[in-house]
Amino acid sequence: MKQIILLGATGSIGTQTLDIIRNHADRFKLVAFSYGNNTELATEIIQEFKPSFVSTRSAEDAEKLQATFTDMGIASGDDGLVETATYKVDDEHPVLVINALMGGVGLRPTLAAIESGRDVALANKETLVMAGQIVTAKAREHGIKLMPVDSEHSALWQCLNGEDPEKISKMIITASGGSFRDLTREDLQHVTKEQALHHPNWSMGEKITIDSATMMNKGLEVIEAHYLFHLAYDDIETILHPQSIVHSMVEFTDTSIIAHLGTADMKIPIAYAMNYPDRAPIGNTSALDLAKLGRLDFKAMDFERFPCLAMAYEAGRKGATYPMVLNAANEEAVALFLAGKISFLAIEEIVRAALDEHVGVEGAGVEEILQINDAVRVGVRERWG
Ligand code: MG
Repeated sequence: MKQIILLGATGSIGTQTLDIIRNHADRFKLVAFSYGNNTELATEIIQEFKPSFVSTRSAEDAEKLQATFTDMGIASGDDGLVETATYKVDDEHPVLVINALMGGVGLRPTLAAIESGRDVALANKETLVMAGQIVTAKAREHGIKLMPVDSEHSALWQCLNGEDPEKISKMIITASGGSFRDLTREDLQHVTKEQALHHPNWSMGEKITIDSATMMNKGLEVIEAHYLFHLAYDDIETILHPQSIVHSMVEFTDTSIIAHLGTADMKIPIAYAMNYPDRAPIGNTSALDLAKLGRLDFKAMDFERFPCLAMAYEAGRKGATYPMVLNAANEEAVALFLAGKISFLAIEEIVRAALDEHVGVEGAGVEEILQINDAVRVGVRERWG
């Protein structure tokens, strides 16, 4: 029996994780979780899974919950996330922290979980983009497993099973192209939020769906792969693959390529991390029917059409605090777009300006990273909000 601590339980990854726990009550037990502001859904989760500890964003919601669930541990705010990640569990059974939070708020609880010696399944890519060096060094120091819950990185991880990392020649990350893949740059001037939120293959949260449309999501994933697999940016390629069936590939020194295929269902990478090194049936997920699919298409990435991806490579190569500034400006820009305050193309403009204005800091610690992160976000809000 594995004890599960789930950060971000009411989001897209969170609810799919709960589905896996629900179907495998013999393998997993939800002991603690956090959520943002969907108290209605959180209440249902508490009634169904009976966790011992819950944390929410606002102190007000925490009070309301405490009045209903009098003997359950409750916390709130950013500290509440850390308390959830480090919540004291039964030492007899293994524990896994699943970080399904959205955005930079995921960094601190990831570090806290690692420092308390817990394995982490990471769906929060911002953690690695903001502080990849610190996070991976801490994971090594504490001897914990840092497992990706992103379809591409789970694919890369699975392609590397039993392989010598020295024999990798490159990684190839696939990209569907997102909701606007058939539009030209001209067409993009008048697209709406509703159109942007309509992803052709994947059902995901709003922020990541917009990131897919700008291709920033792929950029964040390239940076994530750089830190997870210790590969140079020149050896991490991206390729357009509209069907989202090949989730990523690894090419080895003998030119062999190993690919991971599957349906576009996030439950596959979530369950792989939860069961690792084992595998188990997922339940209500249908198998891939290749004959029915008939074909798989690939096309070279177009960096002029998707400048956000080019900026992510640029920030990654520059290193220092550039990737986190890229992420902070993008997070704020996407929030402004979702709020209807800026156009779709303004997102890339905002990220470009933030990178140009930033003077990178080498070897920044967590506090400094979080400070710069806040400053960049405030700057974007003041100027564009
Ligand atoms: Mg992905």
